[in-house]
Amino acid sequence: MSQGYFEIRRPANEPGRVYSAGSAARESLKKELERQSSIQVDIPVIIGGKEYFTEEVVNCVMPHNHQHVLATCHNASKDELMLAMDEAEKAKKDWENMPWEHRASIFLKAADLLAGPYRDLVNAATMLGQSKVAFQAEIDSACELADFLRFNVYNAQEIYKEQPASTGTVWNRNSYRPLEGVVVAVSPFNFTSIGGNLPVAPAVMGNTVIWKPSSTAVLSNYYVMKILEEAGLPAGVINFVPSHGSDVNRYVLTDPRLAGFHFTGSTAVFQQVWETVGKNISKYHSYPRLVGETGGKDFIFAHPTADVDALVSALVRGAFEYQGQKCSAASRAYIPASLWETVKEKMLAKIADIKVGDVAEFDTFMGAVIDRASYDNIASYVKYAEESEDAEILCGSMDDSVGYFVYPTVILAKTKDFKTMKEEIFGPVLTVYVYEDEDLDATLEACDQGSPYALTGAIFAKDRSAIIKMEQALTHAAGNFYINDKPTGAVVGQQPFGGSRASGTNDKAGSKLNLYRWVSCRVIKENFVSDTAITYPYMD
Ligand code: NAD
Repeated sequence: MSQGYFEIRRPANEPGRVYSAGSAARESLKKELERQSSIQVDIPVIIGGKEYFTEEVVNCVMPHNHQHVLATCHNASKDELMLAMDEAEKAKKDWENMPWEHRASIFLKAADLLAGPYRDLVNAATMLGQSKVAFQAEIDSACELADFLRFNVYNAQEIYKEQPASTGTVWNRNSYRPLEGVVVAVSPFNFTSIGGNLPVAPAVMGNTVIWKPSSTAVLSNYYVMKILEEAGLPAGVINFVPSHGSDVNRYVLTDPRLAGFHFTGSTAVFQQVWETVGKNISKYHSYPRLVGETGGKDFIFAHPTADVDALVSALVRGAFEYQGQKCSAASRAYIPASLWETVKEKMLAKIADIKVGDVAEFDTFMGAVIDRASYDNIASYVKYAEESEDAEILCGSMDDSVGYFVYPTVILAKTKDFKTMKEEIFGPVLTVYVYEDEDLDATLEACDQGSPYALTGAIFAKDRSAIIKMEQALTHAAGNFYINDKPTGAVVGQQPFGGSRASGTNDKAGSKLNLYRWVSCRVIKENFVSDTAITYPYMD
């Protein structure tokens, strides 16, 4: 804002491509899928703009074809992690002093590069590396990431505009300084957009960042890093350090320069990090900001007046799209006995039509779950349900011979506190509890209190008084609450995302609320006519 107030218009959401048969978009994406399937990329650590090919190398495979190596990735060790802290610290002064409109331009340019020439590149990497079908990759790595980039910049502008009142000869000013020190961003496997947003949001506000991507999303995340570089991000502003989470915890998060931690992932990891920071609290130069969006046990609650077809669509899409690996995926449902037989019949019929398989085939609805650990974890829950007298498995099977395939699985729980009604599984497993219609109030209470999480939830009802009752009973049960819609698919700028309780700090990614966490406001009072008196009139 050095020589003018440069206005950034409120962005429109990036329109999604549909990839219909015969379309140019589909042909071009297919070509890119073929290209990426026939090469092996070598992914370096990137610190201070330099690439480091370290000794520890891990393979990145297709989850739906686990023998196919897409890339090799070099991991940062303690030395590189410490170097990244140093480089981020060095880059800080120039970055925070860069005229705001130029900082903004870098991210707006990155959004246009991503949505334009590199759309297929990042979508194909997300499809192959994270096993997303074209539609799921498109709404994630193209649309949501472009939205994050554009809305963060727009929201930063809106924050900078917020200024205090001034009276008389005084001019008061809010200066939204970045935090002192270095921000650490640690991202999950399941959304390329979250991978990009976690380092970008603090960087937009003038912070420098160390970004540790998930080892199972590193290919798409690497391309995002390259796009940011091509858009002109100066060296050292974001440092890309694939590495072990435990090393980040041990070396980086205990460094006195830690200014903030921007995380999305499991509740267990976030709690471990909070503990590390707590234990070291006297070491830091300031109180590190801890922002974490974590696990969920997201629900669909149907009232006897629910529209059955809409409910069935929400159950199937909400629970099984992206193999149930969205933090918002429906994983428990409460269905009234009066509707259950019809819901069950229609839902199982829809599930029977679902194709699970190779994401490069465009009639596939679900790919594979992310890795061996996830597959085994899901298997242990299914086995538990199989062996329990309190549950019945209505459909589902598993096969890991080619890829980590888990077919849509529905468990009917006979008790509302059955294990799979409470714990996050993070796979295509939906547990249903059927309640007697007259037990609505007690079942709402069980839904509210039945799990430690509070991320997303959906209610289905036609009756308005029922909607009001359910909305009130579930006030604190979800940070993103849906009425007659599935609990997934939040859009940046429309349904800012995040939950509370064990689901996180609810700082709403992509909104102003999140960006406030990356600034430390300095309030400046300037008096144009300074006081010279010592005593006050009441003393006369
Ligand atoms: P994860 O917790 O296993 O891993 C997340 C990241 O943390 C990875 O980069 C991992 O390497 C790193 N990590 C692991 N141990 C660490 C440690 N000790 N210290 C620091 N970092 C460490 O999660 P995931 O499997 O990648 O993602 C799935 C989880 O993320 C689910 O629980 C899901 O609900 C959650 N999620 C939440 C949201 C949300 O907005 N609430 C969004 C997406 C995913």
